[in-house]
Order: sequence, then C-alpha cells, then structure tokens
Amino acid sequence: MNIHEHQAKEVLKGFGAPVAEGVVVTDPDKAEAAIGALPGPVWVVKSQIHAGGRGKGRFKELGDDAKGGVRVSFSAEEALSNVREMLGKTLVTKQTGPAGKQVNRLYVEAGADIDRELYLSILVDRETGRTSFVASTEGGMDIETVAEETPDRIHTIAVAPSAGCTPTDAEKIADALRLTDGARAQGIELFQALYEAFVSKDMSLLEINPLIVTKSNDVQVLDAKVSFDGNALFRHPDIVEYRDETEEDAKEIEASKHDLAYIALDGEIGCMVNGAGLAMATMDIIKLYGAEPANFLDVGGGATKEKVTEAFKIITSDPNVKGILVNIFGGIMRCDVIAEGVIAAVKEVGLQVPLVVRLEGTKVKEGKAIINESDLNVIAADDLDDAAQKIVNAVRG
Ligand code: ADP
Ligand code: MG
Repeated sequence: MNIHEHQAKEVLKGFGAPVAEGVVVTDPDKAEAAIGALPGPVWVVKSQIHAGGRGKGRFKELGDDAKGGVRVSFSAEEALSNVREMLGKTLVTKQTGPAGKQVNRLYVEAGADIDRELYLSILVDRETGRTSFVASTEGGMDIETVAEETPDRIHTIAVAPSAGCTPTDAEKIADALRLTDGARAQGIELFQALYEAFVSKDMSLLEINPLIVTKSNDVQVLDAKVSFDGNALFRHPDIVEYRDETEEDAKEIEASKHDLAYIALDGEIGCMVNGAGLAMATMDIIKLYGAEPANFLDVGGGATKEKVTEAFKIITSDPNVKGILVNIFGGIMRCDVIAEGVIAAVKEVGLQVPLVVRLEGTKVKEGKAIINESDLNVIAADDLDDAAQKIVNAVRG
C-alpha cells in the first residue's frame, strides 16, 4: 500500500525525523487561513498523488508552459493562486503514465533553504536477503538516471537484521552522503530512526529524494515516498487509516474485497488463470503472439463459483479489454467450477468480446460439457499455445 508524501512525513516525524511544517489543502476556500498559519517567507505548494516526478510534471489542462506539480511561492498570495490553479487539475509525470492523475489534495509546506540535495532509500535487497540503505550525493533527480550514468555515485549499505542499523552502519551512510559536523550528527541519528520506522511499520520501501542539507548545515526530509507490505497491514491499523482509494485502481480495490490476486495492466486481453506461475506464463505467451495482457489474475486454488463470477465481472469492467482468455489447469481448482462461474458471470454482465476457454485437468469433461451446453459463444482451445493464438487472432478480427 502506498501513502501520500504528507502522510509519510507524519509517520517519519513520529520517529523523530526532521520535516518542514506544512498543511494539507483540499478546499481552495479554506486555503487562505491554512497558508496564513505557516510563517513564510517561502511556501512550497506540492501536489499529493501516489506518483513521483511531480516537480517536473505538467498539468494537462494548463499546457507545457505552466509550472509543474511542486511550486515554490514567494508570498502567501502567490501560494494561494498556485493552490487555486493546481487543485482538481490532472498532473502528468514520468510515473503517472500519459493519463495523469487528478490532484485532489495539496500539501503547502514551509520552504527550505537548500544547500545540497541527497538521495536516501531503504529497501529489501533480495540479492543479499537484507534490508539495505541506498545513498547518493546526487539527490533531487531521477535515481535511475544516476544509476545508469554515474553508478559509482550510488552506495549500498546492507544492515544485519540481528543488530539493526548500528552507529557504524550510520557512519558509513554519512560518509557516502559526505555529511559533516552538525549535519553528520543529525544524519547518524536520522538513519537509525528511519531504519526503526522501516522495520517496525513493515515498510517495503522508504525513499527520501531529496534528503537535504540546509545552508545552516542541518538535514531535513524534503520528499518522502513510503510503501507498506500489504500482507502486514493487519498489524498497522494506523497506517490503513492513510489509505486513499481514489489513488488506487477501482478494479484492484474490488478484487481485493474478493481476495483475488488481480493486477491491472494496460493491454487488451483479459486473463483468468489459476496459479501465479500459469498466470505469468499466460501473459508471456499473449505477448509472444503479439498482443498485451490487460491484467494479471490468479483466481487461486480453492475459488468458488461466486469468486470466479466476481473475477469475470472485474475483467469485463475494463473498457480496454477486447477479448478474454480463460486458462485453467484444474488441480485443486475444478474445471466445472470455473465453467459455472464463467457462465453465471456472462448471464449477469453479458459478453461483448470474444472469449477463448482452455480447460485441462480435474473435471475437465464436466467443465467442457457445461460450456458446450450453454449457448455461450465460446472459442474452445486445446492447449496454452492454441489458446493464445486463438484469442490474439479473435481480437485482431
Ligand atoms: P517530486 O520528486 O515528486 O518532484 P519533491 O518533493 O522531490 O517532488 O520536490 C521536487 C523539488 O522541489 C525538490 O527536489 C526540491 O528542489 C524542491 N522542493 C520540494 N519541497 C521543497 C521545500 N519544502 N522547500 C524548498 N524546495 C522544495
Ligand atoms: Mg522527490
């Protein structure tokens, strides 16, 4: 689960991290009082969406010449006019995709006196099986670009889980970031606090880009992106409170209510598959034949007819879906249950696009019979290869 920048800062502040003072604005009519509560003389108006690259992003409605999604303002009036201009508009950044995201809330923050912008993140490093810090003096920009062009400026510091982030680890990070004097002492405390936050809140990613050093040589968290491990959310009701469903894909929210492993993608072929491995293979083979999957979906082993029906409804609610491929290898999952689910769903929502069904395994005969006896316009397939070619051909017309 992702949260907004201002929420991430609130969480980190709770662990002692230095952040700027700020206010959330969702209503332009209440903005004046909110902005007045901040001391100035510089205000920064920041779009709150679950995507990065906001500063360099552009609002669809305002064109390329207008300023981006993070605006430094030098008077309360200027901040207010930025709030009025930005709220409700669609921000397109490198991370939102071309459709962009509507900005429903802004965070107005006290402006910082920046000397240096640094990069710091904590992530689960699958290679070492440890939680690692990634640190770079090249903050404020795209870390992927830094990794590509100047990889020697990126330092990885792995933390031993038994000891946690020790003062020695924190010193290494401070070295990588070239912190000195006051900023160094603050940094060493901050890195240990961030590690504590990461572990105790079951974060899967904590990215601070930029972490800044101010002209007075203090460190401050200027931007914060935090993702939490969805499987651990039951331990953190305080974090669940931060969930903003307007930032999530409606289909994914619906799927999570039915305990379906569904991920929306941009392609045109909806997939209903059992087993994560088979679902991955199905997406691969669709691509192999030149089309793109519209989703990942693993209906799981013990799916009921109702669950299959919900899954089918979610797939067909995606306007990009031009064809559906049902690919079931019945093991624990029975082919007849899938067939019943598909038919029940089609009765409820109708079928506007071609449907290819490939069934194999447990109760395959019964499953095929159910589909054949229905008056559904289904294209039957023998194996995965055949099924993929048939659905790609059907979609191509
Ligand atoms: P994003 O990464 O989505 O573009 P950031 O929060 O990193 O958003 O902001 C982009 C840039 O705007 C920062 O790198 C920094 O230079 C500037 N900035 C952001 N917040 C402040 C602030 N409170 N004071 C001064 N400058 C800021
Ligand atoms: Mg940033």
